[in-house]
Amino acid sequence: MSPAPRHIALVAHDNKKESLLEWAAFNRGTLARHHLYATGTTGTMLQHELGLPVHRFLSGPVGGDQQIGAKIAEGVIDVLIFFWDPLEPQPHDPDVKALLRIAAVWNIGVASNITSADMIISSPLLSGFYQPVRPDFGDATPELPAARAS
Ligand code: PGA
Repeated sequence: MSPAPRHIALVAHDNKKESLLEWAAFNRGTLARHHLYATGTTGTMLQHELGLPVHRFLSGPVGGDQQIGAKIAEGVIDVLIFFWDPLEPQPHDPDVKALLRIAAVWNIGVASNITSADMIISSPLLSGFYQPVRPDFGDATPELPAARAS
């Protein structure tokens, strides 16, 4: 039985988009084995660069970060590759913070720069049978979507 593909969300702030695109192009072969999600502009650029299907949400500043956060909370997303910009204030900083926070709450893999993304993408745990611990918040924990229940 081959390992299930992971669900990977990719987001890059404007000054980091070039880095993310370069990183994704270099890792295209690995990314092609997984399901890809992205905020609007990042997703359009990735689709163009990689020629792979990318499920695109709204642009980050108008709700895309929150949409990805919701998918993390629902148990859909396994890994967040988020090249956020530490040197420029973002108008949607509360959303950025919320996305990073919800990723920590649900114990998904998070990479914020090239080195951490390299380490995650090359980890045998990414494509192996590793089952991340999903925190149990009692009655507040929603059912996993059917597609992710197994
Ligand atoms: P974008 O959003 O991919 O639509 O540019 C990224 C962000 O700024 O959160």
